[in-house]
Order: sequence, then structure tokens, then C-alpha cells
Amino acid sequence: MTPFHQKTTEFGNIIDGAGFAKSLRDRLTTHVSNLKADYGLTPCLVVVIVGEDPASQVYVKSKGEMTIAVGMDSRTLRLPETTREEDLLTLIEALNQEAAVNGILVQLPLPPHMSSLKVIGAISPGKDVDGFHVESVGRLSVGLPGLVPCTPLGCLMLLKDAVAAYGDRLSGLNAVIVGRSNIVGKPMAQLLLGQDCTVTVAHSKTRNLQDLCLTADILVAAIGRPRFISGDWIKEGSYVIDVGMNRIEMETPEGPKTRLVGDVDFDGARLRARAITPVPKGVGPMTIACLLNNTIKAFCLQNRLPVPEGV
Ligand code: NAP
Repeated sequence: MTPFHQKTTEFGNIIDGAGFAKSLRDRLTTHVSNLKADYGLTPCLVVVIVGEDPASQVYVKSKGEMTIAVGMDSRTLRLPETTREEDLLTLIEALNQEAAVNGILVQLPLPPHMSSLKVIGAISPGKDVDGFHVESVGRLSVGLPGLVPCTPLGCLMLLKDAVAAYGDRLSGLNAVIVGRSNIVGKPMAQLLLGQDCTVTVAHSKTRNLQDLCLTADILVAAIGRPRFISGDWIKEGSYVIDVGMNRIEMETPEGPKTRLVGDVDFDGARLRARAITPVPKGVGPMTIACLLNNTIKAFCLQNRLPVPEGV
């Protein structure tokens, strides 16, 4: 298959995450329509949100819309901030038992009176489409098939495609991941180890971070600090994946405005990287596309159907 990145030469060395996510959603749409035609069944994703966090509301709305757009069933359950933890656990148990529900996602963060570890732990691992359950984490770390967290899965898809576009291989490359969160940095490390990369995970206590980044054939930034990694930290010819999504204030002639920027100084890094994801339109769109991907995978495994190729 011709790598997607190579097809989009008008983007130069910019990895077109938005375009890749669209092509992935198109493939998923075909899979869903085949599942309906062949078995008369439709995968269903349920998203549970507790409280009114505005950013979470936006994410949940967009997850619901994208789920419907690929032809799957979508349910969004909105619970008040004051919901008791035990009531949320009871709801999750009911969803675990409901055969028509294939994927369950509890939007994080949860209100402070709830334990996200306990709540995520209550989701049946087979329906854990976020891949955050300890069983999913364990399966990934011992190399067993399972549901993989969406953002690092999307990063890996983009990396594989970009590397292939340059006739390169992931095997043996030096990967440096800056950030060790459970949702991005750690699963990213496991995924790249699984591709035979030599992986180093850096964090806030890492010494000589610039020197370390300069050794990276693959640099994944998942820090949450605007433009923290400057262009002179980038090894010439490397692949740079910027997971960061930081909203910064900017002065404009029309007054202050906000803008989304990554953890990497894109303009500087682009001059040295072989390929780099922009922010926005890089990793971000891949996250929801991979959530839909995971829901189809969960559906097939639950129904003992073959998982479509590439899912
Ligand atoms: P997180 O849980 O806050 O973790 C941040 C990591 O960065 C931590 O491991 C922290 O180290 C490390 N760090 C902080 N300051 C550092 C420094 N000065 N030097 C080196 N490492 C440093 O964040 P996250 O949830 O992984 O998210 C990271 C970024 O990705 C955020 O901007 C978030 O919005 C974005 N994100 C995007 C998507 C998407 O779909 N595109 C999805 C998830 C997250 P310690 O562990 O030592 O504190």
C-alpha cells in the first residue's frame, strides 16, 4: 500500500494527521457497512460524562458525532457532577452486561470525589475502548493483543506511515518519549518497544533533556507545555510527533485571541525534522479515529467475528 504521507506531497515534511484520520474513518465506515450487511449488527459506543467540564463536553460531543458519521450507534450518558461513585459503578456494570453495547468510555477527568482508577477498573476489559483498564495495560506490556490507548495508537499509525514513506523502518531506531503519563507516554513506549525501537522515556526529573532529544531518531513530545522543545533540540532527519495541545493567548489587532500550539516549536523543528506532525491537525484527529477503530475491534472480538485487516 502506498503510504498516505507520500501521497500528500503538497504537505512537504508535514505529517497530515487530519487527512490520515479521515482516510481511517472512511475505511471504518466501509467495515461498519459490511458488518451490517453480513451480520445485521451495528457496533455501539457508549460515552459517559459526569459533570459540566466545558472541554470534556466538547470532546464528548465530537466523539458522538464521529461515531454516528461512520455508521455506528452512539449513546452519550450525561450525569450530574453530584453523582455518587457507587451509582456510576452500577451504571457501568449494567453497560457491561448489555450485549448491544460494545464499547464503554468514561470521559476523564472525573469529579474529585470519584476514583478514576476504580471507575475505569469497573469497565469490562473487552469493552475498554480507551485501553486504560489495568488488564489492557498489562496485555500491551506483555505483548498480548488487546485494546490499546487511542492517542499513542494514532501516533504509531502516523509514524509507521511516515517512516514507510521515506523507505525507512522503525526497527532499531532510537525513540525518545518526553512525558510518562499513563494515557500517552507509557503506552507509547510499549508500542515502540513492540516495533523494536530502542526507547527512552523522559520526564520532569530527566537531566540534560536537550542532549537526550538530540539522540532521537523518533521524538514523541507529550508534556503539556507550549513549544517547550525548540528547533535546536531536534536531530537532523528525525521523525517528530507532537502530542501536546496547549491553548495560548495571543495579542492581535482585533484584541486577545487564543491559539492551539504543541509542545514542540513547530517552525524551528520543521527545518531539521524529516517529518513532523503539526498542531492542530496532527495527532489530535487520530485520537477519535482510533477510538472508533477500537470500538469495531471490540465488537468483532465480542461477537467472535474476524477483526478487519488494519483494525
Ligand atoms: P500529563 O499527564 O500532565 O503528563 C505530562 C508529562 O510531561 C509528565 O510525565 C511530566 O513529567 C512531563 N513533563 C512535564 N514538564 C516537563 C519538563 N519540564 N521536562 C520534561 N518532562 C516534563 O500529560 P498528558 O495527559 O500525557 O498530556 C500531554 C500533552 O498531550 C498535553 O498537552 C495534552 O493536552 C496532550 N494530549 C493530547 C491528546 C490528543 O488527542 N492530541 C491526547 C492526550 C493528551 P513528570 O511525570 O515527572 O511529572
